Amino acid sequence: MENLIILGTGCAGLTAAIYAARANLNPLVLEGHEPGGQLSTTTLVENFPGFRDGVMGPELIMNMKAQAERFGARFQYAECTRLEKADGHLVLEVEGKKLQTRALIVASGASAKWLGIDRERELRGHGLTSCATCDGAFYRNVPVCVIGGGDSAAEEATFLTRFASKVYLIHRRDTLRASKVMANRALENSKVEPVWNSTVTEYLSDADGEMRAIKLKNLMTGDTREVEVKCVFVAIGHNPNTAPFRGVLDMDENGYLLQRNGTTETNVPGVFAAGDVSDHRYRQAVTAAGQGCAAALDAEKYLADHGVH
Ligand code: NAP
Repeated sequence: MENLIILGTGCAGLTAAIYAARANLNPLVLEGHEPGGQLSTTTLVENFPGFRDGVMGPELIMNMKAQAERFGARFQYAECTRLEKADGHLVLEVEGKKLQTRALIVASGASAKWLGIDRERELRGHGLTSCATCDGAFYRNVPVCVIGGGDSAAEEATFLTRFASKVYLIHRRDTLRASKVMANRALENSKVEPVWNSTVTEYLSDADGEMRAIKLKNLMTGDTREVEVKCVFVAIGHNPNTAPFRGVLDMDENGYLLQRNGTTETNVPGVFAAGDVSDHRYRQAVTAAGQGCAAALDAEKYLADHGVH
């Protein structure tokens, strides 16, 4: 029987691991199919406090992991596929085995949706990203594009006009799904050029392997053309990684875990949620880290209340 299992090794899970390990809870941390979370696929992170000149995403994550290990957190590569409630504890199905624990922190994150076309993995961090807040400032006075038609796409397009010389907003239909106010804000900006009824069929890179252009297809006419952009921001939504918890943990209509009472508690006693798995609003490394800290403190209190010190 474990005291505490933490699912996820992004900012939320690793911060929870640091706090829980320092509280002598001897946590077991499970790393799933995207170890290190979304930060591990970015390059320079300029907005994490404490790094005056920025820090590379993978380095930040490696340091957090080493910090958690220094205090005794244990790590295992394993995917949790199911959570069940048992009498006074929890049972996780992990790689065909059952793990029992008194408390659980779910920090399994959310995964950006991608188009699913060629070279998408290879170009990430080289002019292909899903986070304007993280990467927008690198693309000053050059053309970029945003793919999507929801609030995220509209918000990112507007944000990117601060830096880019031009922002193509590429949508597969001829109206945005985004709320009126956000859609108008984007479309009324003179730097934003909407490209309707269109989809990106190819990413084209330069000799250094950086994004150079995209191939666009007009879905009404079938015409294709090349458009020069230095960065492609894919904003077609995120999926929270909550499939193993369906029917057990309360979620909103998009599958994000619901927290209760202004804490990280879920509807199941002893289960806490932190980071992007329960946050579709802020989605920042630093907010995820803060939530990971809160979840560890909540779990520590829960365990103490149940006789584990
Ligand atoms: P979303 O509302 O699900 O929109 C996704 C957009 O991507 C849609 O326009 C969709 O096209 C398009 N899309 C999906 N799959 C695609 C594909 N394979 N190829 C091309 N386009 C594709 O996602 P979101 O914009 O990330 O927003 C998620 C939630 O967060 C929403 O509830 C939103 O209101 C909220 N949000 C709020 C704020 C805010 O208030 N500040 C900011 C961001 C997000 P279709 O329109 O054709 O389906």
